[in-house]
Amino acid sequence: MDKSAYIMEASKCVRCGICKSFCPTYDVLRREGGSPRGRLSLVESRFGGEGGFKEAYVRHMKECTLCGACYSNCPNGVNVPELVLAARAEIVEKEGMTFPASFVLKNFLASEKLMPLALRFASKLQGLFFKGAGEECGLLSRFNLPVVGDGRLLPELSERFFLDRKHVKALSTEARREGKGGAAKVAFYAGCGINYFLPDIGEATIRLLKEGGADIIVPQGQVCCGMPAFSAGDRETAKSLAIKNIEAFEETGADFIVTSCATCGHGLKNVFRVLLSTEGPEIRSRVERFVSKVRDITELLTHELPYKGGVKEGNRNLVVTYHDPCHLRRYQGVSEQPRRLLAACGAGFKGLKHPCRCCGLGGGLSLENY
Ligand code: SF4
Ligand code: SF4
Repeated sequence: MDKSAYIMEASKCVRCGICKSFCPTYDVLRREGGSPRGRLSLVESRFGGEGGFKEAYVRHMKECTLCGACYSNCPNGVNVPELVLAARAEIVEKEGMTFPASFVLKNFLASEKLMPLALRFASKLQGLFFKGAGEECGLLSRFNLPVVGDGRLLPELSERFFLDRKHVKALSTEARREGKGGAAKVAFYAGCGINYFLPDIGEATIRLLKEGGADIIVPQGQVCCGMPAFSAGDRETAKSLAIKNIEAFEETGADFIVTSCATCGHGLKNVFRVLLSTEGPEIRSRVERFVSKVRDITELLTHELPYKGGVKEGNRNLVVTYHDPCHLRRYQGVSEQPRRLLAACGAGFKGLKHPCRCCGLGGGLSLENY
C-alpha cells in the first residue's frame, strides 16, 4: 500500500473540528478517537511510521460507520472515510484478521454455494433459536447465544430466498438470452439483503420494471457485492467478488444494471473501480463499461424508464417520509429521485429534520458494537 497519498490527504486537515458536530459516533462516544479528526490524526501518525499502536487504534477505526457525513461537511474536503478504509486494509495486510472474521469473509461470503446452502439451513432452524421481537421488526435470541449475545435484534431470514424462486429463475441469463423487444434490457442485482432477508423489495423491483416495459434478467451467477469484506479491510475477497459479478452481468448484454440496495449500488458504482484500479487497461475498460450501466432503481424509474404507475388508489390519504441512506445520498448523489417518485404516486410527504442521519449499520459497526 502506498501510504504517501493518504498522508497527503490527512495533511489537508486544519484541525478546525467542524466535522465533529456531524459525526454520529462522536455524538455517542464523546471522545476524540471516536471523531473524524481524531481518526485521521491516528491514521496520519501510523502511516507516517510512528509505533505503539495497539487495540485502541483498531477499535477507533472499527467504530466508524463510514457514513461520509464528515467528508460532506469538511470545508477542506478531507476524505476521512477513505482514510479509515485504508487504515482497516493496512491492519488486515499487516496483522491479518481474527479467525471468525477470516472464516466468514473468505470461506462463507466468497463462496457461491456455501453461503446460500448454510443460510437455507439456518432459515429452517431459526425458529428454534430465535423468536419474533413483538412490536419491533426482527428476531431476538431465545437463549444467551455466543456471538449473538442477549437483546440483539436480528433480521429474519426469508423462508424462500429471492434468487431461489421459480419465477425469478425463469428470468436467469440463460432463460432470457434473447431480448423480448422491450423498452430496455435491464439486469437486476439483488444483493444479499434482498435475496436472503427482504425478497419483497426484489419482487416490487421486478413489478416496477415490468410496468416500465423492460426486458428483465436476473443472473443466477451474481454473488455478494463484497461491501462487507471491503469495509472490513479484506480487499482481496472484495476484489474476487467484484470480478465474479462483472462476469455474471457482462453475459447478460443488458443496457442497464439496476439495484434496489443503496450499499450494493455504492459498491457496484464506486468500490469496484477502486478495487480494480491497479489492473491492466483491458480489465479497467470492462469495469468502466459495467459501471456506466449501473443505476439505483429510483434513478432508472426517474430517467431512463420513467415510472408510469400513476397515483395508486388510497395513496392520497397517506403521509410518508423518507430516510436518505448514506450510501445513496452521499456516495451516489441520489436524493431527488426517490422524492420525485413518492410525489408521482400521489402520497403526501413530510420530510425529516435530519433525513440523512446514519442508521448505524454502515461499515460493519453494529457487528461488534451493537
Ligand atoms: S477533517 Fe475537515 S472538518 Fe474535520 S477537523 Fe479536519 S479540516 Fe476540520
Ligand atoms: S464517516 Fe461518519 S462515523 Fe466515520 S468519522 Fe466520518 S462522520 Fe464519523
